Amino acid sequence: MAKLVIVPTPIGNLGDISPRAAKALAECDMVLCEDSRVCSKLLRHIGVTKDMVIYRDDNEERQVPKIIDSIRGGNVVCLTSDAGTPTISDPGYRIVSACRKVGIPVESIPGPCAITTVLAASGLPSDGFLFLGFLPKKSSTRISIFRKYASFDYTIVWYESCHRIVKFLDDLHCVVGGDRVVCIAKELTKLHEKFYIGKISKVRDEVGMSQPRGEYVAVVAPERFKL
Ligand code: SAM
Repeated sequence: MAKLVIVPTPIGNLGDISPRAAKALAECDMVLCEDSRVCSKLLRHIGVTKDMVIYRDDNEERQVPKIIDSIRGGNVVCLTSDAGTPTISDPGYRIVSACRKVGIPVESIPGPCAITTVLAASGLPSDGFLFLGFLPKKSSTRISIFRKYASFDYTIVWYESCHRIVKFLDDLHCVVGGDRVVCIAKELTKLHEKFYIGKISKVRDEVGMSQPRGEYVAVVAPERFKL
């Protein structure tokens, strides 16, 4: 049956591709990907050769009508991104929304995502949480966002780059003080995976001394949570 299939990909460890995701990639007519080199590596890993079409933030608008036509023509199209779950701080929601609008079936395969991976391992409250994607680069805007959420009663997850993770901790420290519990996870599922967990004053020093490199996720506990 013609459809769009959302296929999560590993966030580091290729072994995390699920059998169901691999089967979907093997059986589809076309794979949407952000970068064909990254996608080819994954397809090689599972022994699949497939037509790939680049689908990124900068060509989404142009691609959506073509993809809709292709699925209406009977094709099964897999939506992937470079790492993790498509549409989560990654391109994709526009094609999903367009499919929904015209009644094309959408299948969503569960799989790797940096948010759930870090949250589950952090030991911070995870009964409810807020994910806020990437912060803006401008310091004053970041600080005003921290002020807005300083008293939020649930855990908050942010994506952050290695270039700004220390600045993230400095700005957050300025707003919430040194006692707030945070978890900074680096290179999840990869060789250099590391978790920094504790009061922000201690974590800031540890991350600062580590010469940050690679990919980071930040988890901030609500004020009520103490270690
Ligand atoms: N769609 C992806 C997901 O499901 O997690 C997220 C894509 S977003 C463009 C990329 C950001 O996710 C990175 O900058 C980093 O903050 C986080 N991330 C992705 N993989 C990661 C990993 N292995 N370790 C730590 N953070 C990661």
